[in-house]
Amino acid sequence: MIIAIDGPAGSGKSTTARLVAKNLGFIYVDTGAMYRAVTLSWLEQGKPNIADFIQDLPSITLGINAHTNEQQTFLNGIDVSKEIRGREVTEHVSYISSLKTVREKMVEMQRNIGNAQSVVMDGRDIGTAVFPKAHLKVFMVADIRERALRRLQEMKIQSMFPLPKLEDLMITMKQRDEYDSSREIDPLRQADDAILLDTSNLTIEDQALKIIELANSIHNF
Ligand code: C5P
Repeated sequence: MIIAIDGPAGSGKSTTARLVAKNLGFIYVDTGAMYRAVTLSWLEQGKPNIADFIQDLPSITLGINAHTNEQQTFLNGIDVSKEIRGREVTEHVSYISSLKTVREKMVEMQRNIGNAQSVVMDGRDIGTAVFPKAHLKVFMVADIRERALRRLQEMKIQSMFPLPKLEDLMITMKQRDEYDSSREIDPLRQADDAILLDTSNLTIEDQALKIIELANSIHNF
């Protein structure tokens, strides 16, 4: 079974998707982490010419931490789960993920993972491009202020100091969403058959519960 969760930055996708996967006993796949790892590689190489970079894309692999059950992201065999959350990666990831060759490689990997087991996969194009026949598609949205507040909270927990100002964060998140929504290949958009979930006034538990109920109703059908 494939559950596709898409939506803009900070809409609560990853935390919710993780809870849903845990509850259903599925694997959780954070596809944003894969694009972030490619971006980290480009930055680490000193921002080479894109034509050269895509000729020889790095190897990205995913694992699961046996203690925390969290997804681990490996770049050329090295665990970069923490590094990919850095500010510079966040600033450049929309650009790198708009490249055709990068998307083709990531989508192929995502399909291989989803074809092998039941997954909850979150991203921007899972319901529209990666698994257009997913059993359940949810498109999560939330008020921009609420999304920025959540991201600030996450940054605090990850000790990403100094924290940006709320207004500045709202601007950069909006810019990233606009870039992701307007790119040519597989832009961020709600699939026609996706269920819209506005999480502005919902707790993470409520969000997860709604998706679990939807998944169970499909399962039992
Ligand atoms: O989910 P997260 O915010 O970590 O995603 C980082 C970026 O990766 C997004 O802003 C988007 O540019 C890209 N992305 C994508 N397709 C996906 C997942 C993420 O283009 N399926």
